[in-house]
Amino acid sequence: MTLLDAVTAAFVERAGRRPDGVWRAPGRVNLIGEHTDYNDGFVLPVAINRSVVVAAARRADDGFRCWSSRNGAGGCVGPVRRPSDIGPGRSTGWSAYAEGMAWVLRDQGLAVPGVDLMVHADLPAGAGLSSSAALEAAVGLALTELAGASADRVALALAGQRAENEVVGMPCGIMDQMAVLLGRAGHALFLDTRSQHTELVPFDPAALGLTLLVLDTRVKHTLAGSPYAERRRACERAAEVLGVAALRDVTLAELEAAAAAGRLDEVTFRRARHVVTENDRVLDVVAALRAGDLEPVGPAMAASHRSLRDDYEVSCAELDVAVESAVGAGAVAARMTGGGFGGSALALVPVAGADTVASAVADAFAANGFAPPAVFAVAVSDGATRLA
Ligand code: ADP
Ligand code: MG
Repeated sequence: MTLLDAVTAAFVERAGRRPDGVWRAPGRVNLIGEHTDYNDGFVLPVAINRSVVVAAARRADDGFRCWSSRNGAGGCVGPVRRPSDIGPGRSTGWSAYAEGMAWVLRDQGLAVPGVDLMVHADLPAGAGLSSSAALEAAVGLALTELAGASADRVALALAGQRAENEVVGMPCGIMDQMAVLLGRAGHALFLDTRSQHTELVPFDPAALGLTLLVLDTRVKHTLAGSPYAERRRACERAAEVLGVAALRDVTLAELEAAAAAGRLDEVTFRRARHVVTENDRVLDVVAALRAGDLEPVGPAMAASHRSLRDDYEVSCAELDVAVESAVGAGAVAARMTGGGFGGSALALVPVAGADTVASAVADAFAANGFAPPAVFAVAVSDGATRLA
């Protein structure tokens, strides 16, 4: 059954009528540019062929009701929610992503009608593939079109980020929402997170007999303290010492000079070095892709992984084993992707060797006593669209 058929059937069963429309938003993987977004830096995500779909219909009143077919998230989310029940501090759980979109769009003056809404997906949640932004984008498109307006995709991405920041309470950057709304098949999305300027650069692994494999470690290590906030603080500290607004504005030579002069402690220096070199790697890969050259992608991804592991220290044993075993079994490139401490790694592999890489990773996990990973191929796909 297609996602369209599945979500339509689920909607009809719950709501007792046909949806007015069905919208889809994909997940994303980030080729390169990790932990650069909160430093005003560069990222290079691609939208993938795993999606969240939303079937929705207007209601006669101003209520908001949403369901999800996802395990553990199923069932009606309490009674119908009135507009005053929705928003920061009032919306909780998974439906905060959907209610958050309604709240933000209304706050921006859009006449969002009452809706019933069913969510279905073949995109795993919490695996670092940005199911949260996909959910926001699909719901955002649905609500915009049901309000009779046409969506500005950049504005919708910013609305999604705001919903996640203010209603869900997750201080995410803008990469995920831009990737799932602006991505295109055969392309990666180069995003300057400071100016929010985007450029689609050609990236079509399938044309070269390659595919992207997601190596989902299925672990999420909960660490003492708050390593994400600690990394952000280290970046802010380094930027302050160097007298710049963000590490985006620093060259490696300037950073090294500051360290040599004793102005940066060793840990802060390494954190900043990751960000500065990662920005350079994104620009190098973008230049190569613009010229139709995939050759530099492998070395850049390898360097990115080493930098995240050694300088930024956000990898973990499972991610390192996934990357090393994939490269050992013939991947042309592999690195951890996402925030780290678990989640997924990404590998670029010859289509003919994908099974070999997948079993090598599974074997290496078994040999290390880790629980089995989930390994699956993804194709580069279009951003969010209306399906019906
Ligand atoms: P990621 O974006 O990497 O998948 P997040 O933690 O940012 O991870 O977002 C995952 C959350 O998004 C889930 O815990 C759930 O609240 C919500 N979500 C994602 N997909 C669905 C879905 N199909 N149905 C309901 N909620 C979902
Ligand atoms: Mg997310």
